[in-house]
Amino acid sequence: MDFELPEELKMLQASVRRFVDAELIPIERETMADGKLKPDVKRRLEDKARALGLWLYDVPEAYGGQGLGLLAKTVVWEELGRTIALPSRAASIFGPMVSPILYHLNDAQKERYLLPVIRGEKRSCFMQTEPDAGGDPGGMRTTAVRDGDHYVINGQKRFITGADDADFAQVIAATDRAKGSRGGISAFLVDMNTPGLALVRKQVTMMDDRPWEITLDNVRVPAANRIGAEGEGFKHAQNWINEGRIRHGSRGAGVIERCLELGAAYAKSRVTFGRPLADRQAVQWMLVDSYMELHQLRLMVRHAAWKYERGEDIRQEAYMAKIFGDTRSFEAADRCMQIHGGIGLTTDLPIERFWRDQRSMIITEGPTEILKMTLARHVLNQYG
Ligand SMILES: Cc1cc2nc3c(=O)[nH]c(=O)nc-3n(C[C@H](O)[C@H](O)[C@H](O)COP(=O)(O)OP(=O)(O)OC[C@H]3O[C@@H](n4cnc5c(N)ncnc54)[C@H](O)[C@@H]3O)c2cc1C
Repeated sequence: MDFELPEELKMLQASVRRFVDAELIPIERETMADGKLKPDVKRRLEDKARALGLWLYDVPEAYGGQGLGLLAKTVVWEELGRTIALPSRAASIFGPMVSPILYHLNDAQKERYLLPVIRGEKRSCFMQTEPDAGGDPGGMRTTAVRDGDHYVINGQKRFITGADDADFAQVIAATDRAKGSRGGISAFLVDMNTPGLALVRKQVTMMDDRPWEITLDNVRVPAANRIGAEGEGFKHAQNWINEGRIRHGSRGAGVIERCLELGAAYAKSRVTFGRPLADRQAVQWMLVDSYMELHQLRLMVRHAAWKYERGEDIRQEAYMAKIFGDTRSFEAADRCMQIHGGIGLTTDLPIERFWRDQRSMIITEGPTEILKMTLARHVLNQYG
């Protein structure tokens, strides 16, 4: 067993950390406007990301990217997790965001959708959630009905991130509602300017995120725009979903570490009743609990990445990394806020933003209870 990061990943870690400390943390309260990176800040940071050698770090080499493996990506995600400078759900300074589903397109579809995204000419959004089906997408009501060489899509979607900037959407719709998630859900590439597709309302959340409500009213999509076979909408997403869950864990580790840095420094400097907070056991224990959880989380994330790179199934590890990472990092932000007292509630410090963002992570991309429900099936099979 070897718990050390390989030498090249230690170097990657050090250089991303320097970048975060020197370029992001000093401006972290000034980078965003209306939930997005300010365009001039984005351009400046993109140049720096290029100089750092991280441009398209998560795009496979075959498509001109760096093709970092999952372990390397966990290192980058964790370091970026230490700052609130970038949007919490899309760092967006390392090149265009490429939804991993797009790598599963056929050649003709790749030409029209994947390659323009990588070149920065087109942007996409992902439309799955609906008013009546979020955590349980199998119950979705949006339907895609075959009509000759087209499908006709009808339904409503909500919480669709980036719909206002997107050129096309990956729309998830039921081709057989009776089958639901067992072969009844398909995925389609839909151009945003297709007649019948409308952005209805921008949703204001307690975070910086501003997702959209959408209606699809007799939206005609060529059958050639279906991703994979009919009924296989969920199949291709599996690897992507695992990776997304590990990303939650890595980000959580970064958040916990920054909260430890802030909390320990403040505890040493703040004096009440004649003694620094750091002398009080109540405060020490908050820091120690976060410290232990950071250690646990890192081991979980790195073990999962190691297993993934050996080609093994990491579904259970990915569930655990997301549940533990999101809940423990929220708790760490909460403790850090408590240690800081009133100043922790202000926008002078990043703590309140970590607190809001990490609270939201416990719901999005799979609420904790639903992940635990799925994990429970595995536990009962293995031990029951
Ligand atoms: C900022 C933001 C951005 C988003 N971006 C996108 C996007 O780009 N594209 C997209 O498709 N979606 C997106 N979403 C949707 C998001 O993924 C869903 O909100 C999430 O999956 C939860 O679905 P829901 O809100 O319908 O909750 P529900 O599924 O209705 O669940 C509500 C609550 O019920 C509880 N619960 C549910 N099922 C069970 C169970 N079996 N056992 C016990 N408890 C249960 C959980 O506590 C859960 O939090 C986004 C959401 C937000 C807030």
